Amino acid sequence: MTDTISTIQMKSALEELCDTIEKEKEYLSELDGAIGDGDHGVNMAKCFREVKKKLAEIPADDMGSLFKSVGMVVLNSVGGAMGALYGTFFLRMSQESVDKQELNLDDMVHNLQAAEKGILDIGQAKLGDKTLLDTLSPAIRSLEKSEKGGRLLPEALAAFGQAAKEGMESTTDMLAKTGRASRLGERTIGHQDPGATSCYFILRSIASSIKAQ
Ligand code: ADP
Ligand code: MG
Repeated sequence: MTDTISTIQMKSALEELCDTIEKEKEYLSELDGAIGDGDHGVNMAKCFREVKKKLAEIPADDMGSLFKSVGMVVLNSVGGAMGALYGTFFLRMSQESVDKQELNLDDMVHNLQAAEKGILDIGQAKLGDKTLLDTLSPAIRSLEKSEKGGRLLPEALAAFGQAAKEGMESTTDMLAKTGRASRLGERTIGHQDPGATSCYFILRSIASSIKAQ
């Protein structure tokens, strides 16, 4: 049973992520159209097209440089909040995994905790505000629980993906309190948050890295 994720596995999971974002572009923009300005899919697809190009150019040497390359592209190619938030996500993951060739469950917990902290510091959103944090935070809490419970990595990642999905779905009933959508107040209830949805795609790809090769 595999208990670490290799750089090659992570790289191929990130490549799959780029394809997923391209495929789900219209869906993400449609979600954003209901409670925002309808550009989330376009923003994300533009960015992850650049990420895909970058991934084709770089070797899968170590996790730190892999996440750093992705983070830098995201930071520079998406305008506004998303670039800073998702850019920070990957850059914090990179800082935690300098020179690592593979990641175990403990590494994944630390990486993701650092990424979450970065997003909290920059975005100042709270859990329940109907943002991507409502996908990210419950997924990380699940991973922490798996680690404490002594679960194996593949099992822990499966639970992580499931918690991310449930977190994303939980945003439907929430009232937006942060970002553009918050201006619509009560009208945001009944719509799944676009950022929570793209965050699910990102976390699902990370969760599937252990199988992808
Ligand atoms: P914009 O709102 O500038 O049009 P996008 O449409 O690309 O940007 O992204 C909207 C998503 O950004 C929201 O669905 C929400 O999940 C996320 N978001 C907005 N502000 C924050 C924040 N401060 N912290 C975390 N996520 C946020
Ligand atoms: Mg938008």
